[in-house]
Amino acid sequence: MDIIKNIVFWSQINTEQKLKVLSRPILNQKKTITKTVSQIINDVRILGDDALYKYTYKFDKINLKSIKVKFDHIANASTYINKNLKKSINIAKKNITLFHASQKNSPIKLNTQIGVTCEQLIRPIESVGIYIPGGSAPLISTVLMLAIPAYLSGCKKIVLCSPPNIDYAILYAAYICNVREIYQIGGAQAIAALAYGTKTIPKVNKIFGPGNMYVTEAKSQISNLLNNTSIDMLAGPSELMIIADEHANADFIASDLISQAEHGVDSQVFLVTSSIKLANNVLNSLKSQIHKISRITIVKKSLKNSFFIITKNLLEAVAISNMYAPEHLIIQTKKPRYLLQYIKNAGSIFLGLWSPESVGDYASGPNHVLPTYGYASSQSGLSVRDFQKYISVQELTLKGLLNISKTVKMLASAEKLDGHKYAVQSRIDYIKGKN
Ligand code: NAD
Repeated sequence: MDIIKNIVFWSQINTEQKLKVLSRPILNQKKTITKTVSQIINDVRILGDDALYKYTYKFDKINLKSIKVKFDHIANASTYINKNLKKSINIAKKNITLFHASQKNSPIKLNTQIGVTCEQLIRPIESVGIYIPGGSAPLISTVLMLAIPAYLSGCKKIVLCSPPNIDYAILYAAYICNVREIYQIGGAQAIAALAYGTKTIPKVNKIFGPGNMYVTEAKSQISNLLNNTSIDMLAGPSELMIIADEHANADFIASDLISQAEHGVDSQVFLVTSSIKLANNVLNSLKSQIHKISRITIVKKSLKNSFFIITKNLLEAVAISNMYAPEHLIIQTKKPRYLLQYIKNAGSIFLGLWSPESVGDYASGPNHVLPTYGYASSQSGLSVRDFQKYISVQELTLKGLLNISKTVKMLASAEKLDGHKYAVQSRIDYIKGKN
């Protein structure tokens, strides 16, 4: 049986078929999820903590004693973690911190014309909620990717929510990233609690983090509430596109495809190559490697959403990648840096033979929370900037106001906003009256 059924020659298919190849897997339970989540949000808004206990029992099958994790429990988590795991978490933390610390911008101050001073201040968002998904394994890397930029940006209140029981590794990673407030609540109820606040969980200004369909739907509904709580982005299923030529290593490519396909059944991976020989070698390698993977069933299912695309040349491969705007892009060609100049849309790029996407998931430095669903064409991965606000300031001298008054009055008249015009004119009249 062929693992990849979808092998296409780009020049032999029409526009409609091309669009179909590059379309994302469709969510088919959307309607029921929307209703369930809306009910959960409403309950949390009205019943507060009681709804949190109720839903945790219903969905997580846990009779919670306490929503908040005691500080001692967080501080002592280190005792329960293997020495080597701790060392790896610490190295990842150092690299991620180094990269994100260099993202910090400086304030701006300048005169746009004489007497008109304009500034841009940078202020941290006061309180943020970071959601760490539960599931089969503790997502330590997600703690690092959210808590590090939050702390570096100067956020005073960082609140972490994750389904019970929270693994010690999550608590340890949170502790070393300066997170002190942790609540063992997951799903849509956690997002609702962060958006509205309950007796135990504080309302926050912005909610960050990935999650399953319920979490994502809750973030989507919350962002439309005009409730003064915003969200980072709607993180969809993982995506990887690999551009490769005949110089690439087929085994490495197969392993990279598997590494992203194992995220979930709705993950989508592509190989776009100018070499049919390479495509065949990758296919053979996939067949032998897939049996070594514990999540083989997930990988097989997600490979059904995936394509091998054969192109005329590498520039055509780049054009396809720009059209798809992948969350992750690997370029394994003889001269990957040469192609880099033509890449317009991608969340995060990995260049050359020795740069597997896994290093970016965990430890190299850049953030792994990246735009999916093609939003890499207009959005960026998470950074320190997402935890901050840019506030503009304007200060005019009398001379500055006189200099700009004609321009403003003219534009105000054109927009038929007399009040705007008068706010300038009244000051000019005042000065005239004094002289
Ligand atoms: P999760 O924390 O996202 O969701 C678990 C919660 O879902 C539970 O606490 C429960 O309250 C709720 N839930 C479960 N069944 C429900 C139901 N029938 N109705 C209502 N609520 C229900 O953990 P998960 O489920 O393991 O999912 C993890 C997700 O995170 C995966 O989909 C994975 O792809 C995603 N993820 C994405 C990224 C990214 O960067 N895009 C990174 C890591 C994980």
